[in-house]
Amino acid sequence: MGIRENLDTVKSRMENACKVCGRDTSEVKLVAVSKTKPLAALEEAYAYGCRDFGENKVQELVDKYEALPKDIRWHMIGHLQRNKVKYIVDKVFLIHSVDSLRLAQEIEKEAAKKEITVNILVEVNVAEEESKFGTTSGEACLLVEEIAKLPHVRVRGLMTIAPYVEVSEENRRYFEKLKQIYVDIIHKNIDNVFMEELSMGMTGDYEVAITEGATYIRVGTGIFGEREYTVI
Ligand SMILES: *Cc1c(COP(=O)(O)O)cnc(C)c1O
Repeated sequence: MGIRENLDTVKSRMENACKVCGRDTSEVKLVAVSKTKPLAALEEAYAYGCRDFGENKVQELVDKYEALPKDIRWHMIGHLQRNKVKYIVDKVFLIHSVDSLRLAQEIEKEAAKKEITVNILVEVNVAEEESKFGTTSGEACLLVEEIAKLPHVRVRGLMTIAPYVEVSEENRRYFEKLKQIYVDIIHKNIDNVFMEELSMGMTGDYEVAITEGATYIRVGTGIFGEREYTVI
């Protein structure tokens, strides 16, 4: 299956999931996760209308940013090291993976230098997996309150990476949990916080995530096929 057919499949499954839960299709945005994929694959997805691409490595994001059209919205979805923030703050549309105040402070520093405001999501490890980054469910609200004090950083919502499961329904509880934290934070009416986005759901479970309120789904394999990793 080619990228075009895959995109058609993902889009029709997105529409179906929206129909099932009575949501408007415009409420859910697709991030094409292009990590490890060559430029040609991104160009093909671009030709079929994709404008949102997700990357998890700073260098790769910067290289692709330089090479591809400037109307692409780049999403940083991977763990971000503080010393690399300076390379991407002015290139990303949204950083999905902010999980500490120190990282947010670094983003503030670099954004202030460039006189820009950077949109971010706070990553929450709702499933409490040891291997994953993200703040805990219990600390998420406090972290949002602290980040809200940084004038060049704007919290736009929350993100989670659910566990890898065979049966997508098993992740429903984690999507529900993230949505609940999101609603709790909205009720706090925190200044400089714009809770609008819930980034949750990947190839294996995006339909479940949509029915639980996802506004961004991040799909890699389902669009570009399996990834090949070179072991270094
Ligand atoms: C790789 C990745 C994805 C996409 O995973 P697929 O299962 O290939 O759809 C989504 N989100 C994050 C944070 C990722 O690192």
